[in-house]
Amino acid sequence: MAGFPIQIATRIKTLPPYLFAAIDKMKQAAIAKGVDIINLGIGDPDLPTPASIIDSLAKAAQDAKHHQYPSYEGMLCFRKAVADWYKRRFNVTLDPANEVLTLIGSKEGIGHIHLAFVDPGDVVLVPSPGYPVYPVGTSFSGGVSHIMPLTKANGFLPDLEAIPKGVAQKAKLMWLNSPNNPTSVIMSKDYFKRVVEFAQEHQVIVCHDAAYSEIYYDGKRPASFLEVEGAKDVGIEFHSLSKTYNMTGWRLGFAVGNKDVLAGLGKVKSNLDSGVFEAVQKAGVTALGLPDSVTDGIRKIYQERRDTLVPGLKQLGLEVDAPLAAFYIWVRVPKGYTSTSFTAHLLEKTGIVTTPGNGFGAPGEGYIRMTVCTSKERLVEAVERIKRAGF
Ligand SMILES: *Cc1c(COP(=O)(O)O)cnc(C)c1O
Repeated sequence: MAGFPIQIATRIKTLPPYLFAAIDKMKQAAIAKGVDIINLGIGDPDLPTPASIIDSLAKAAQDAKHHQYPSYEGMLCFRKAVADWYKRRFNVTLDPANEVLTLIGSKEGIGHIHLAFVDPGDVVLVPSPGYPVYPVGTSFSGGVSHIMPLTKANGFLPDLEAIPKGVAQKAKLMWLNSPNNPTSVIMSKDYFKRVVEFAQEHQVIVCHDAAYSEIYYDGKRPASFLEVEGAKDVGIEFHSLSKTYNMTGWRLGFAVGNKDVLAGLGKVKSNLDSGVFEAVQKAGVTALGLPDSVTDGIRKIYQERRDTLVPGLKQLGLEVDAPLAAFYIWVRVPKGYTSTSFTAHLLEKTGIVTTPGNGFGAPGEGYIRMTVCTSKERLVEAVERIKRAGF
C-alpha cells in the first residue's frame, strides 16, 4: 500500500539549526583517518560513580517492591534526603512534602516546566550563550525567547536593567544558570537579591539551573538562589546528581522551592511520565548522604586539571580566565578566527575537539568552550599540540 508524505510539525521544523553538525562531521572524518583525538568537547564526567552509590542501586534493584511504578513526585525518602542536603549545604529549609520534586534528570524538568506556565506568545527571558533546553522548551510551548546576552562587558551576567520594560511586563519565566555552562561564571548573593526584586516587580517566575553548584574550585562554594530572602516566593531551583556524583547516565535530578510552581511542573509530569525507578532514587539517597570528603576528592581532580590547562593556554597567548566553578573553560578565539574556524583549526591541526561558542547562541561568537573531563596527561598533551601547531 502506498504511504503518504510524512510531515514534521512546525515546532520541529523551526528548531534552530544544529551548529555542531559541521564539527561532528569533521570529528568523525578524523576518527576514521585514525587521528588520536583529544576530546575537550564533552560536558560529561569521565570519572566513575562512587562505589557505595552503585552498591545501593544493586541492593535496591533486588527488592521486588521497587519494581512497580514509582510515584510521579518521587519517593518521600529521596525528597527528605534532598531537604537534608539543602539544609546542610545551603542552610535552606525545605518541606519535603511540597517543596521538593524528583526529576528524571534536571533536563527533564527544565524542558517541561514551560508547558505549565507559558502560553502561546508569552515571553521567556533566556540567557545566551546558554543551555539550549531553555529556548527549545520555550518554543515547544509556543512561547517567545527574549535573549539576555552574556558578554565580557557585563561580566557574563544578564543585565536586568537592559531588559525593556514592556518585555519584562510580558515575561512569564526567567532562566538563570549559575555556575554557568558554558562561561563558568558564578552569580553572587547580591546578584540573586536583584533578581528577586526584578521578579517581584514584574511578576516573573525565576527558574535557576544549579546543576554545577558542587563543581567549584579553591574551596569557594557557590550560593543557592534560595539562600536569598524572598527567593522561594518567586521561583525554583533545578538540581542534578549528574555532575556532582558522576551520575549523568542514571537520570536523577530534582527541583526545589516555590510549592505552587512545583505543583505546576508536577501536574505536567503526572500527565507525561511515571517517575524515576525507585532503586535509582534509593541510590540517590545514598549519594546525598555521602560525606564531603567524596565530593572533595572529585573537585580536587577537576582543580588539578584546570590548573594544568588554563596556565598552559595562557602561556600560548590565548585569552582565558580561570573558572571559579563548573568544568568549562571559555576561551576567546585569537585574532583572525571565528568560533567555527578556530574549532576547525584545532581539530584539523591538532586533533583536539572543542565546542564553538556560537553553538550556545549568537552572543557566544568569538569564543570556544573546552572541558576538563579528560585526564591531566591528555590536557598537557593538548597544550603541547597547540604549541606545535600554532594559530
Ligand atoms: C548537564 C546540565 C544539566 C543537567 O542535566 P541532567 O539532566 O540533570 O543530567 C542541566 N543544566 C545544565 C546547564 C547542564 O550543563
